[in-house]
Amino acid sequence: MTPQRYRLGDTGPAVAEIRAKLHQLGLLDSRDSDMFDDDVYRAVLLFQQERGLSADGVVGATTYRVLDEARWRLGDRLLSYVVANPQAGDDVLSLQRRLTELGFEVGRVDGVFGPRTGEALREFQRNVGLPADGTCGPGTFKALARLAPIVTGGRPDNLRAREALRLAGARLSGKIVVIDPGHGGPDRGNIGHGLEEARIVEDLAARIEGRLGATGVHAYLTRGTGLTEELEEYTRAHFANEANANLVISLHVDAHPNPVAAGVATYFYGSDRPGGDRPGVNSVIGETFAGLIQREIVARTDLADCRSHAKTWDLLRHTRMAAVRVELGYITNEGDADRLASPAFRDVVAEAIVVAVQRVYLPSHEDAQTGALRLRDLAGA
Ligand SMILES: [Zn+2]
Repeated sequence: MTPQRYRLGDTGPAVAEIRAKLHQLGLLDSRDSDMFDDDVYRAVLLFQQERGLSADGVVGATTYRVLDEARWRLGDRLLSYVVANPQAGDDVLSLQRRLTELGFEVGRVDGVFGPRTGEALREFQRNVGLPADGTCGPGTFKALARLAPIVTGGRPDNLRAREALRLAGARLSGKIVVIDPGHGGPDRGNIGHGLEEARIVEDLAARIEGRLGATGVHAYLTRGTGLTEELEEYTRAHFANEANANLVISLHVDAHPNPVAAGVATYFYGSDRPGGDRPGVNSVIGETFAGLIQREIVARTDLADCRSHAKTWDLLRHTRMAAVRVELGYITNEGDADRLASPAFRDVVAEAIVVAVQRVYLPSHEDAQTGALRLRDLAGA
């Protein structure tokens, strides 16, 4: 433990150690120095931002402690709830994320092994037939690892999330999906080529709702057509949380001053960091779901593929379940507006989204090729 504060310009063995830790975390290229230089400053800032610490670029007691805790990898040591001195570290964070993905309620995913993490761990152990002792040892590590199937391709995070979804069951019947038509009431959203975003997404939401209902999904809309005041993103998220939804789909249509801008994009909760991966900051199921919606729409329509992206928008951030925002084309683009105006096109998009919902719950080996699955295949699924 270091009682001191280390900042830009400092040198010495403690700085060398800080450099080594940052290097190990992939935040610093070179560890062979004992200078607190600009690179170290930037790495510390980044680390602090990632961990929700006050980002001042100075390594004080808290930053040092969190930096130190970051060295633990799941499996490095036994984990359990110690009342007097709770264990903390990135291995605890991994355990919490894994348990959360598998549907066990750990409370805050904060890297501190508290009583709720202990309860969730016991619950997991009971579920996989292990002694429910609340201690994460070799047997439990193995059980957690077993739930990550060895499949080539794809990110391990996504594969684990997929496995969690498989455990939830492939049957659509009984799942709760909240559909959120953006804007509404006095807020008409983007306008162009004689179309209103609010109106288009209402129509699309109704088409999706009808199809989901036919597969046994309980589909709820965050708003109807008779809205009299604007509906906040937070209120929409709260609605989904109260409904205990499995998935949330928020529907929007984009606009741009440049009429050439066109295409469909999907968004999930998370934040991109160029050149690095920040495990667990992205919602893995959200990312999977966004990718599936994107692929299904692109496979079935001729909209340009503007891909999936991580965002921290309110609706994505405040929902407890996987949430995806779809920006279905640009109302300011003539070609996209033509498509959006067509009921047949909106039917195709509705089907693409419903198929994406089903694909989230299909184990990968049973999953059909993108664009191949049809709604009738899902009847009674
Ligand atoms: Zn919108």
